[in-house]
Amino acid sequence: MIENRIKYILQDNKRIAIMGGTFDPIHFGHLIAAETVREKYNLDKVIFLPSGNPPHKDKRRVTSKEDRYNMVQMATASNKYFDVSRMEIDRDGYTYTIDTIREFVSVSSKGTDIYFITGADAVYDILTWKDADELLSVCRFIAVTRPGYNKKELEEEINTIKSNHKCNINVLEIPDIAISSTDIRQRVMKGSFIKYLVPEHVEAYIRKHAIYQNRGGHNE
Ligand code: NAP
Repeated sequence: MIENRIKYILQDNKRIAIMGGTFDPIHFGHLIAAETVREKYNLDKVIFLPSGNPPHKDKRRVTSKEDRYNMVQMATASNKYFDVSRMEIDRDGYTYTIDTIREFVSVSSKGTDIYFITGADAVYDILTWKDADELLSVCRFIAVTRPGYNKKELEEEINTIKSNHKCNINVLEIPDIAISSTDIRQRVMKGSFIKYLVPEHVEAYIRKHAIYQNRGGHNE
């Protein structure tokens, strides 16, 4: 079920982005990407959507949904344009992006533009996602890249998808921000610093709850 707060955002605004990801943990790269997209596309709101149980993930290797949600909430609280939805956190069974987007669309006002922001890796397997054609036609996709990505290969992939499917996929390059959740998890495991990579509250949460200390992630 959609939280009332999120429902009002969807009803009252015309340009909304959904920022989907595992966020294990959320870091400054995600926040900069969301803010960059918001500014570039003149968006009213960015709703962060921590993933629940996506079918392609090994559940044992992903940090608990509540911990990931709490960290996203802390990281986004100070930005009035950001919000967080528990939609996928609270759903039982596997979570598919299309199911969430359908619910969002069902409460949004007519003519609302919905963007879906996620990592550029998603472009390579998006056609395997549930009801991919519907998803691609309902949302404008923003694929966020990190330094070192293969631009030519990504463009070719997008062109192939575009030639066979009705869709709107854009690439957003975030220059010089090479922060990754994997690196942060490994740093915690090794005892290296994560200050300046994640917001202070998120670092404090990771330390307090001893997340990532044993294996770069912990169990549900
Ligand atoms: P992921 O494991 O969280 O991340 C894959 C890569 O993309 C990582 O390099 C990650 O960097 C980056 N990334 C992820 N989200 C990002 C974001 N919002 N902004 C910038 N970079 C991001 O991703 P995933 O599990 O593939 O999931 C991504 C989204 O796609 C989720 O919303 C998920 O539910 C959805 N999805 C849906 C289906 C389906 O419906 N069948 C299937 C697959 C994925 P970091 O590690 O640094 O975050």
